[in-house]
Amino acid sequence: MASSTGSSDRKAARAHDGARACRYGQHMATPDVTAAGRHDDDITAGREWGSELYRIATDQFERAATLLDLDPEFRTRLCEPRRALTVNFPVRLDSGRVLGLTGYRVQHTLTMGPTKGGFRYGPDVSMGECAALAMWMTWKCALLGLPYGGAKGGVRVDAGALSLGERERVTRRYAAELIPVIGPDKDIPAPDMATGEREMAWFMDTYSQMMGHSVFEIVTGKPVVLGGSSGRQAATGLGVVYVLEAVCERIGLSLRDARVAIQGFGNVGSVAARELYAIGAKVIAVSDRSAGLVNVDGLDIAAVERWMTEHGVLSGYPDAEEVGPADVLEVPCEVLIPAALERQITEDNAPRLQCELVIEGANGPTTPEAEVVLHERGILVVPDVLANAGGVTVSYFEWVMDHQRYTWDAMDVQERLRRQLRAAFGRVTDAAERLDTDWRMAALSVSIERVAEAARLRGIYP
Ligand code: NAD
Repeated sequence: MASSTGSSDRKAARAHDGARACRYGQHMATPDVTAAGRHDDDITAGREWGSELYRIATDQFERAATLLDLDPEFRTRLCEPRRALTVNFPVRLDSGRVLGLTGYRVQHTLTMGPTKGGFRYGPDVSMGECAALAMWMTWKCALLGLPYGGAKGGVRVDAGALSLGERERVTRRYAAELIPVIGPDKDIPAPDMATGEREMAWFMDTYSQMMGHSVFEIVTGKPVVLGGSSGRQAATGLGVVYVLEAVCERIGLSLRDARVAIQGFGNVGSVAARELYAIGAKVIAVSDRSAGLVNVDGLDIAAVERWMTEHGVLSGYPDAEEVGPADVLEVPCEVLIPAALERQITEDNAPRLQCELVIEGANGPTTPEAEVVLHERGILVVPDVLANAGGVTVSYFEWVMDHQRYTWDAMDVQERLRRQLRAAFGRVTDAAERLDTDWRMAALSVSIERVAEAARLRGIYP
């Protein structure tokens, strides 16, 4: 495609190709390198991924690809998922009524080995959302040096409205529907929003029933007694804290003296809060779907957790000022941890953030437009692909242990996790210096280079 002679011309042509390759929803066209016999205008590829989250993921990819002057061939091959499955299936509710549900599984790249990524339940789950999250999983695994491509899945359902039995039937049927595309060496699911150990146990059991023997290594994030790794449940939140410790050392911020605000008090947010509280940081704000809690003198996280266990929601906790769930993002603090859901820091609220650094516990919590504002305001952003990679890292340990039929102890798991995250942070800071860019672009560049190199070496079949 780029027949120009000068390297700047080549760079411009590549940027142009990449931009065309990744712009879904308009004339999302595949560049000529793959479009033999077809004209750009005939092709509307990419429409199926249409979602705000996919726009964010491809925007980030495009910027990193331009920074790397990535060959158009790889821009095309990496900016769309390799494989996606949509399933529509019935589930009988306790009332006897039959509910029709839609689920997805998206595998971003098959180049690096089996694919890996969680599945979630939520009323807004879509193919486009899964496509974005699968792409981020690829970058996360590549950054950590894990032998996986990225995947993500989910069922569009309000899990909070399901009884335990209904939740089990949804999980088992979804697992059965995915059989053609999953397997311990093919695609290994894990927990994500609104799913956890319980769902992983049902998923593993369903797959095992179909195979005729126990296949522990089909999912990670299982209960320990079923081949789960000690520390997996806490791994993402713990990983956020390990990365934060490394970041604080680098920028000269004392974590013990830091004020921290956390949005989301689920698997990621509550563990991060507990761990930070344990090391002496002042967690001054937390929130969940029901409310935000602020106490400028520091929240007693153990007491907040007890309240949560008793009441199921943060709202009503007595020793704090109650604010809206999103208000905690704007509380004056040194460290802000968005750990709830995507697209929470936007162009609208970014000018009002009062923190020194944002460390992304959630996937995709910062929009590209907001990131520009944060950058201008000198607020550091530790990107999701690094900050929340603790979960998939311990998932990898679990998968290795399941394959080996050998268990590592909790200290071993934590020590290896800390080491791998610190090494990844080192790769990010090195790349940031080498490429003169921010940490997100640096992290994506490391990952994209690695995946593109693997794709180049494997070549194209046939
Ligand atoms: P979770 O379902 O356990 O918890 C989500 C939390 O966010 C809950 O406390 C919920 O009440 C809260 N929440 C929902 N909407 C909110 C709102 N509008 N305002 C404030 N809080 C709100 O989910 P999780 O597993 O903790 O995942 C959180 C994020 O971390 C997601 O983006 C997920 O993709 C990402 N993540 C999770 C893992 C993992 O291992 N669980 C790994 C990597 C990334």
